[in-house]
Amino acid sequence: MGISGVWGSFLRRGRAGAPAGGHLVEIWHVRYARERGQDVPYFIASCSCEWISDAHDEADPRAEERVREAARAHSPDVAESMTYPLD
Ligand SMILES: [Zn+2]
Repeated sequence: MGISGVWGSFLRRGRAGAPAGGHLVEIWHVRYARERGQDVPYFIASCSCEWISDAHDEADPRAEERVREAARAHSPDVAESMTYPLD
């Protein structure tokens, strides 16, 4: 199964109750990244419309900032908080 299948199942599970057609972007800090074939935690932005940003490894000190920039470029409605989807 590819990354899209894995992310699809997370997104379907996590999106329950989200408003249809909205663009609420959550910032995710994924600390258990073995589904990508590596152990480096990473940041990624995930929108309620199924858009996701590029992932940025935590090793990059600007990773969260880069993901938030991508999120704001997609939608003005970006969550201030951090989500830990796999904890
Ligand atoms: Zn969106």
